Amino acid sequence: SLAAADMAHTLHPNTNLRAHEAQGPMVIQRGEGIRVFDDKGKEYIEGLAGLWSVGAGFSQKRLADVAYQQMLKLPYYHTFTHKSNEPSIRLAEKLAEITPGPLTRAFFTSSGSEANDTIVKMVWYRSNAMGRPEKKKFLARTKAYHGITIASGSLTGLPVNHRDFDLPAIPVRHLTCPHYWRFGQEGESEAVFTERLLAELEAVIAEEGADTIAAFIGEPLMAAGGVMPPPAGYWEGVERICRANDILLVADEVICGFGRLGTPFGCQKYGFTPDIMTLSKQITSSYMPLAAVMISDHVYAPIADNSAKVGVFGHGFTASGHPVSTAVGLENLAIMEEQDWAGNAARLEAQFQGGLRSFADHPLVGEARGDGLIGALELVADKATKRPFETVGAVGRMAAVIGHDEGLIFRAIGDQLALCPPMIVTADDVDEIMTRMGRTLARLT
Ligand code: PLP
Repeated sequence: SLAAADMAHTLHPNTNLRAHEAQGPMVIQRGEGIRVFDDKGKEYIEGLAGLWSVGAGFSQKRLADVAYQQMLKLPYYHTFTHKSNEPSIRLAEKLAEITPGPLTRAFFTSSGSEANDTIVKMVWYRSNAMGRPEKKKFLARTKAYHGITIASGSLTGLPVNHRDFDLPAIPVRHLTCPHYWRFGQEGESEAVFTERLLAELEAVIAEEGADTIAAFIGEPLMAAGGVMPPPAGYWEGVERICRANDILLVADEVICGFGRLGTPFGCQKYGFTPDIMTLSKQITSSYMPLAAVMISDHVYAPIADNSAKVGVFGHGFTASGHPVSTAVGLENLAIMEEQDWAGNAARLEAQFQGGLRSFADHPLVGEARGDGLIGALELVADKATKRPFETVGAVGRMAAVIGHDEGLIFRAIGDQLALCPPMIVTADDVDEIMTRMGRTLARLT
């Protein structure tokens, strides 16, 4: 059977492999709008849009048509050594137009991890080009998720992605996760929490020396680590301190980008302007693998000068600027604009976030949180003390199984239940998602 073949021959990412050998896969066979169907025909609302990524929903025929037409016309071409192709040129132009601030150039990769690895290498190359070879360190945050390759996995701040992989393997300092509910101290206001985190940033810069720190990277809203919106004033402070210390600011918008928070990009929601931006996932609604590194002119210029000196910018992937992926990306962004995803998220925000917060009085819900069309319920053993469960993740896994039974897919990040539905959801869809979540929670007590 399909399940037996999967258990015998597949090594699943992010999976307890021994548990999988016993339990087998959930095989999803087809999708329609915000729903997917398994191999037994059971229907689920995809409350996480796949992996926070299928903005357009699961049956957008225009994306399939564009991919097919591009495959017939030019299925592949590369972008090395001055070669180019029309979809990748048009998509770079489009991204320069819609991203905020001075981001003018795109470098394409296939995944968010490759994009963040590319950023590390670009920043190092730039520091060397500027005669500052000691300016190489990165600042990130605990609970950040920036990918799993050697460099991006080092920027990630989750123990499970480091443990026994010998990461971090690049010079990086992880600062306190800006999640007030969990990391605010007894009696500390949100404003004082923000001040404490900004003071920590300044202290780390002083300790390491600003001339050794190249960049600060952060997700505007930390997503895969547990959906944690930043406290008020945090990003303005981080931006001010980075500028004062000549540290590049990188916004990893792999999940927040393309309308998720009710603004076109997450940095606009929280009021900061990055020098570099990572984009992926909803760039094609994940119909094709694609990511982009967006950079500003002051990042580009020293890199370009150095490539002339060295003879080449010696970095790139076979699939950088793949014509099918970029053609699908262009069409997806056209659909995004026609359907006004950011506007839809802004309009539905109160209903979606209100729905989540309506579960706050459930005996196991410690915090209901989120912004725009992304949110989470954090389950705890003791609501008053916020004490986590002894075996982290067991209750979350149980909730996910019940959720499946109720026809709702969400992501259990430990005991945090994350929702991030396709951008095409309607008010009725949000009601249905909350109804199914409510039934799930009712069965969990
Ligand atoms: N950056 C962020 C913010 C992400 O959420 C992810 C994936 O979830 C990545 C980077 C890595 O992307 P990929 O899985 O395509 O390598």
